[in-house]
Amino acid sequence: MKTETKRLAWLRPELRELVPYAVSPITVPVAVNANESAQSLWDLPEIRQALLEELQNTAPQHYPKPYADELRSLVADYVGRTQDEVLLANGGDDILGLMAQAFIAPGDTALIHTPTFEMYQLGVTGMGGRVVAVPDTGFYEHDVEGMLAAIAKEQPKIVYLCNPNNPTGRPWQREELERLIEVAPGIVLLDEAYMEFAAPEVSLIPAIDTYDNLFVLRTLSKAFGLAGARLGYIVSQKENINLLSRVKPPYNLNAFSQALGRVALRYKDTVLAGVSTVCSERDRMIADIEALPDIAVVPSKTNFLFVTSPKATAIYEALLEEGILVKYYGAGHPLHGGLRITVTTESINTRILKTLAKVVKP
Ligand code: PMP
Repeated sequence: MKTETKRLAWLRPELRELVPYAVSPITVPVAVNANESAQSLWDLPEIRQALLEELQNTAPQHYPKPYADELRSLVADYVGRTQDEVLLANGGDDILGLMAQAFIAPGDTALIHTPTFEMYQLGVTGMGGRVVAVPDTGFYEHDVEGMLAAIAKEQPKIVYLCNPNNPTGRPWQREELERLIEVAPGIVLLDEAYMEFAAPEVSLIPAIDTYDNLFVLRTLSKAFGLAGARLGYIVSQKENINLLSRVKPPYNLNAFSQALGRVALRYKDTVLAGVSTVCSERDRMIADIEALPDIAVVPSKTNFLFVTSPKATAIYEALLEEGILVKYYGAGHPLHGGLRITVTTESINTRILKTLAKVVKP
């Protein structure tokens, strides 16, 4: 057997077609391709000192707290729940892996709509599960009736919903989500990674009291500006958190990330102060783009915009020329013709808008 064929045969069959998740190399000064925050915690003077102190008090020779007790309690307060209803992991991505590991057996079905966050599919496929996708309709509108029909037909083990959705930015209505949760025979994983940019009062975290099948995913990577620390969490009834704990590696969250997370949450009002500016900048960008020819934008409730244009490739290249990297869906990708742009500082947003205008109405 040729070496490569032999090597491939080592791999579990369901992984043989998978391509590793690719992240574009960043070769320009401004990267607005990954929905990160433009703000560094180090730049907030009152937080800088607290960060230094916390990091200095961290003991690298010891294992971290397995459940990140203090951070867990700060997170629980932030979302208005108790500690035993929260589980922390190494980013939301890691939580998605734990969920798939705990609940997807080979041959199980999971339901998503498309387009949505790609990691759902990866988790399910990795465990030998099968993903059924209901495409959005019109201009990336959620097909609730289609999802209801697919739930009835497929009886999925997990239904993945992302509110507001990545990569489109479109929010779900509360009653749409509740209709889906009520009929789902298994688990509903509701991903609220971008909820701080929508309206925190539309979060379904309080609904975990009503729905014992609801798991709500959150992250400190976006509004809290801690993508580099890898801090994600899930909120659900405590008995569900206990199920998930069975697959959690004991020391999954390193001590330094726990320290950064504690500071971010202790100073949450200061850290989150920039969120309202991002939201008004987002709305300004949407209004400006809507006035341009040959480009359409989904009415986003996140910190990013999804635009489509017959001139998408030219837009991508013109932005690169300007030193700005956005997420570009290349030829062959189902979203080809689309670009995803993180809302950032006012001056860079203005440069982005000017470049878009230059390309679509030269
Ligand atoms: N869910 C969604 C919808 C996301 O966009 C992301 C980040 N791209 C995540 C979860 C995971 O975030 P992280 O692993 O950085 O916590």
